[in-house]
Amino acid sequence: MQKIATVEGTKNIINKYPFAFQKKFGQNFLVEPSILDKIISSANITKEDCVLEIGPGIGSVTQPLLEKAGKVVAIEIDNQLIPILNEQFGHNEHFKLIHKDVLKVDLQQLLDEEACGMKIKVVANLPYYITTPIIMLLLESRLPLESITVMVQKEVADRLNAPAGNKQYGAITASMNYYCTSKLVTNVPRQCFMPSPNVSSAVIQLNLHKTPPVDVGNEEQFFKIIKGAFAQRRKTLLNTLTSTSDFGISKDQLRDVLEETGIGASTRGETLGIYEFAKLSDAIDTKRI
Ligand code: SAM
Repeated sequence: MQKIATVEGTKNIINKYPFAFQKKFGQNFLVEPSILDKIISSANITKEDCVLEIGPGIGSVTQPLLEKAGKVVAIEIDNQLIPILNEQFGHNEHFKLIHKDVLKVDLQQLLDEEACGMKIKVVANLPYYITTPIIMLLLESRLPLESITVMVQKEVADRLNAPAGNKQYGAITASMNYYCTSKLVTNVPRQCFMPSPNVSSAVIQLNLHKTPPVDVGNEEQFFKIIKGAFAQRRKTLLNTLTSTSDFGISKDQLRDVLEETGIGASTRGETLGIYEFAKLSDAIDTKRI
């Protein structure tokens, strides 16, 4: 079969069907084989793996995934792409296509049915208009994933990889650090896609922790503190936390907690890592009792 992830391979397929690119679905198809090779080799796919692909498009990434993986489960929203994907890969018993919006799929149930005890890895060139919701859904659903290797906007990659204290570091970075580690696989110029997007891209890999790196008594409160800490970045932690959330303790008690934990009331949230956020959350619990 001809390689799909090239300009020629992509044109051949889309000219064969009544297909028009849908901007609303973030359709920028990968047409650079060297980037595809980096995605596939960094994902380290074997026949033991079931790969969940979000947004297969015309199958540029699906094609090599099917060569390497034991199974590929692909979720695609666009009606136009379903007959194309079925024609390309429908004959392959290791390919399962789900025609749905990924944000509306019960992923736990799907993977229980399809992965049957295999290791599960996510590999995708994500639709950029919902990159963060998809990543957070994958992490927060506590799916038994080994890794997530995804193409995202460069800006999102920078945010997810930022260390505490950096301008790019935000609530999503701190929350994500609770679930996984993150690394940059490669930067990807705009010309590697058809059509070219307006922004640069990057491939990142998230490796999921088997157990969270910090012990937190009250996870819901821990995430509420992270959100509150970044809600008003210029304010001190004491002020932003008291004005954005209610933790069931007074402002003076919160000031005491911040001082007692060594974090300090005038610190800004953006300097804290998940260890400090966990310490703060547990200390608030103790103060409330
Ligand atoms: N994987 C292909 C590639 O690399 O060339 C296409 C990637 S393109 C950036 C994003 C794909 O996600 C498109 O095929 C688009 O139709 C699909 N998509 C967009 N929104 C989606 C959603 N909510 N659920 C599932 N697929 C979606």
